Amino acid sequence: MSQVLPATIPAKLFHERADAIADAARDLAQRGWTPATSSNFSMRVDAAHAAITVSGRDKGKLGRNDIMLVDMDGKAVGTDARPSAETELHTQAYRRWPEVNAVLHTHSRTQSVASRLFAKHGVIRLEGWELQKAIRGHATHESVLDIPVFPNTQHMPELVARVDAWIDAGKPLHAYLINGHGIYTWGHDMAEARRHLEALEFLLGCELDLKRLNA
Ligand SMILES: [Zn+2]
Repeated sequence: MSQVLPATIPAKLFHERADAIADAARDLAQRGWTPATSSNFSMRVDAAHAAITVSGRDKGKLGRNDIMLVDMDGKAVGTDARPSAETELHTQAYRRWPEVNAVLHTHSRTQSVASRLFAKHGVIRLEGWELQKAIRGHATHESVLDIPVFPNTQHMPELVARVDAWIDAGKPLHAYLINGHGIYTWGHDMAEARRHLEALEFLLGCELDLKRLNA
């Protein structure tokens, strides 16, 4: 695959983004959060473009050639590679929040089980956990953090519409789960997106443990 960049995007900038995505992906794969080539990762490159993982690649072995450019409608730019089927959920985050520069989507066992368990409520309410402070804007464990659980579908416009509806209702959104599928979260930079993902994985694991213990 060869990636031809628009004249407005320096190769150095695209390579920096591609390397940051590949680094994050390898690390998350090592933790077992990206089984069987699932999951996808992206970063904003400029106001009109994002770099995202090519569909179907082993996330533990990503290099620069496994990252491609898309526009903010999720269409490939300068390559015939195929972006992830869920690219529209990434570009939606960049369109909705100009300050967001990295989006991570994984399929860990904890995320998958939690999504099934809480799907009937449509939301997981996190409160009383110190680690909620890892989420942007949450200064205390006394804050309430609602993570919606949306029904799974292979029809991306349906999911995009559900996410839009949540945001348009004025409800804070730092992450969402998709039932039986996985989690999406994001950040102002890759470090923040990774912090959010790690914190949420931990918090969902704690909620599952409480259920197991009937606490
Ligand atoms: Zn997925």
